[in-house]
Amino acid sequence: MTCAALIVAAGSGTRAGGDLPKQWQPLLGRRVIDWTLDAFLAVPGITSITVVVHADAVARIAPHPRISVVTGGATRAESVRAGLAAMTADPPDHVLIHDAARCCTQPAYIAYVLYALQTGDTPAVAPALPVTDALWTADGGRVTGLQDCTGLYRAQTPQGFDFTAILEAHSVQAGDAADDVAVAMAAGIAVAIVDGHEDNLKITHPNDFARAERIMENQMDIRIGTGFDVHRFGPGTHCMLCGVAVPHERGLEGHSDADVGMHALTDAIYGALAEGDIGRHFPPSDPQWKGAESHVFLRHAVGLSITKGFKINNMDITLICERPKIGPHAEAMQRALSEITGIETGRISVKATTSERLGFTGREEGIAAQAAVTLVKTCA
Ligand code: MG
Repeated sequence: MTCAALIVAAGSGTRAGGDLPKQWQPLLGRRVIDWTLDAFLAVPGITSITVVVHADAVARIAPHPRISVVTGGATRAESVRAGLAAMTADPPDHVLIHDAARCCTQPAYIAYVLYALQTGDTPAVAPALPVTDALWTADGGRVTGLQDCTGLYRAQTPQGFDFTAILEAHSVQAGDAADDVAVAMAAGIAVAIVDGHEDNLKITHPNDFARAERIMENQMDIRIGTGFDVHRFGPGTHCMLCGVAVPHERGLEGHSDADVGMHALTDAIYGALAEGDIGRHFPPSDPQWKGAESHVFLRHAVGLSITKGFKINNMDITLICERPKIGPHAEAMQRALSEITGIETGRISVKATTSERLGFTGREEGIAAQAAVTLVKTCA
């Protein structure tokens, strides 16, 4: 069974304040909608995403092989109809319809709603939370009465539907609707409630940005990666170590510039991302990487971590050799790595040890390096 996602992002969101509609406003260094799209992209069962935006915002969505952009209408229901119509070219079995402003929604939660849709006995499922607070009616700041909250629920998204059923329901729905469950109900489609989540906040008011940040900071994805590399000594006048040419009576041999420290560090970043190693991204069999400067590899790994939403929190490198002495160059190495990665020097450690004249490093046959990094993503 195929499932596609429809993200509604065409609203003007004026209640949230700011110069831009809320879905385009920054949150923890990215736009609200970027968090939402990333969450859906991370769900294995979702094959494609259609984003409905205002006509002047089409260019704000970066091209992505699994994302298509559609222009919305004046109301939420019109925007959903436009998105569903665009999806008929390659109709999925199921569709999850979601508000872009619910940016704290996690992939695991989206997968839970999808699973409920795929395994349930209704053509529609929708997350909701029972109302537990007492409800009042009021007038002019004074309580005028008590509202019975028995059987009341707070609706959330993503709401999941049989694609054909919700497409037909929307085709007969003339005006606007609060959400797609309202449209489904009007068409007689049974909707099963699945457990909502308190963290599945919809940014509506200015204070919600701070709430969303707090929620996301509690959903941090922390990765540790380690790398190890060895290069043997050969003829030469210096060794490239962590981006610094350290004078020595021998050099390091290797396919690239043999910067053993930078290789260990680069592999640590790839490792944290579960992205293999340098050899996978820059095959030694490819002549274009012969003699390559290792900052090319490191920059690629850093770029990949940014693309995947991770920030490098710190890096720690240990060079293992008897000679050359590393200590006098450690600060220059920190600075060189800082320039390449954009990470402040206070988060970059370069240190060295000997191996007490034992083993290949002790016999000065080569230099070994190991590295560890932590990567942090502020939304899992
Ligand atoms: Mg190497």
